[in-house]
Amino acid sequence: MIKTITLTLAPAEAVSEKVIRKNLASVTGIGSNRINGYTIQKRSIDARSRQAKIVLQLQVFIDEKVAAAPAFDPQLKNVSGAPQVVIVGAGPAGLFAALRLISLGIKPIVIERGKDVRSRRRDLALLNKEGIVNPDSNYCFGEGGAGTYSDGKLYTRSTKRGNVLRILQLFHHFGAEEDILYDAHPHIGTNKLPQIITAIREQIIACGGEVLFDTKLTDILLDGDRIKGIQTADGLTIHCKSVILATGHSAHDIFELLHRKKIAVECKPFALGVRIEHPQELIDQAQYHCIVRDPLLPPASYSLVAQENGRGVFSFCMCPGGIIAPAATAPGEIVVNGWSPSKRNNPFANSGTVVAVDEKDYAAYGFTGPLAAMYYQQMVEQRSFVAGGGSLVAPAQRMADFVSGIASSSLPVCSYIPGVRSISLNDVLPAEVSIALKKGLVDFGKKMKGYFTNEAILVATESRTSSPVRIPRDKETLQHTQIKGLYPCAEGAGYAGGIVSAAIDGERCADMSAAFS
Ligand SMILES: Cc1cc2nc3c(=O)[nH]c(=O)nc-3n(C[C@H](O)[C@H](O)[C@H](O)COP(=O)(O)OP(=O)(O)OC[C@H]3O[C@@H](n4cnc5c(N)ncnc54)[C@H](O)[C@@H]3O)c2cc1C
Repeated sequence: MIKTITLTLAPAEAVSEKVIRKNLASVTGIGSNRINGYTIQKRSIDARSRQAKIVLQLQVFIDEKVAAAPAFDPQLKNVSGAPQVVIVGAGPAGLFAALRLISLGIKPIVIERGKDVRSRRRDLALLNKEGIVNPDSNYCFGEGGAGTYSDGKLYTRSTKRGNVLRILQLFHHFGAEEDILYDAHPHIGTNKLPQIITAIREQIIACGGEVLFDTKLTDILLDGDRIKGIQTADGLTIHCKSVILATGHSAHDIFELLHRKKIAVECKPFALGVRIEHPQELIDQAQYHCIVRDPLLPPASYSLVAQENGRGVFSFCMCPGGIIAPAATAPGEIVVNGWSPSKRNNPFANSGTVVAVDEKDYAAYGFTGPLAAMYYQQMVEQRSFVAGGGSLVAPAQRMADFVSGIASSSLPVCSYIPGVRSISLNDVLPAEVSIALKKGLVDFGKKMKGYFTNEAILVATESRTSSPVRIPRDKETLQHTQIKGLYPCAEGAGYAGGIVSAAIDGERCADMSAAFS
């Protein structure tokens, strides 16, 4: 007999097989000699009470052999010589689209403006240490996309569990730890993602697919309302019937190209604000109601939401034990984001904390039309650069000082490697963002004891929360509403937000483009 049983245990109990077996025997009323074993289906933390608990959902094998989960088969084929689909962008969407095409017997040709993960690392070092932004190789551009040097959180709000599990199984197949399959909030970590991305690329090539680095799409070739090929910056022309456009939310040149070619793009709301960093210890104390975190509990995280003056204010992409990263994709702008290693063992906790903005806000600064949100976003990023002194040194302010409108006379130590400078963030953020953010921070402080503190630092600007445009597509065929064979895909097109949802959308576009090819 196989039974599903949920146990709520202290952290030390949850790692002891002896204690788990004893609890299973007691819950089932069956002698422990009849329990042959168990597998973990789901693991989460319940930190609502004074003592945080681990909640384990277990599949228990009573009087029968423990059955190993069936081996996952990505069903990859040899696709050399098969019909081909061009994928632009080797982020999670592009790579998972490529794997899916291979399983469908179609040859993917992936073109990527940036470099392979290893070479990309050198450009990240230059960014952090010398403030040099390579517009084709940075935290957003290059193999693995924006997901490579991220926290690697694989949590998604997508409710299509089957699809989510398949993406997690693929990550596991290419080298991620098994616990991503059952943790309620799985994550991989910046240190482990590059090997996984490399393994995916090697598999694509081994199956007969192609991955071309340093290859930037500069034009889309049309035959009336149909795709007939693409052109790249170095003069390469690839003829094809289908293009999956998975270029991410920072490929401003792609939005401009589409707009110039009169291929519809639409302005959309997004959110903008700051990255906030607290000492991790303080977040642990608040969330686990403790003085010192039990080392068997992971560094704590939070997720906070408020409505202020009719605007959403929310925390986003929380990185426990993380680092604030310079995520600019062009010189003359400051964009911040966050990452953490698999152990999440840095002494800081950061999250994007942002305010929803929309067309009315863009129009107030004179930005209208399909690219209005992008121009508004650029305006704030450039202001931040100027306020920081014309380098990647970022404007920053202590939390309580920001809310009280006082310049910070000193700043706490901050993980952002290019450095921070004390600036009144009222001078950087648009007033509508600043006002709502101040109210939101006060509300968050009421919801989470210890959150509202001058020990926290606000670093500007967190502005690449989602794409500033939507590229319209047909709901059924996923093709652009005007152009047959063009598949606007994932985050850059406005259909995903995060690694897993981008990968799922990549797979969906692959399915549709394969049927069209
Ligand atoms: C520092 C950081 C941390 C993050 N942390 C997390 C996290 O923990 N969890 C999470 O779910 N999400 C996280 N995100 C967001 C996540 O990375 C993105 O949601 C996801 O990568 C989007 O996938 P995508 O494939 O749609 O686009 P992207 O990952 O943006 O990939 C687009 C790719 O297209 C390429 N490209 C662009 N223009 C061209 C062109 N003209 N020609 C050829 N190639 C082009 C780019 O170089 C890039 O590689 C993080 C992002 C950053 C920057």
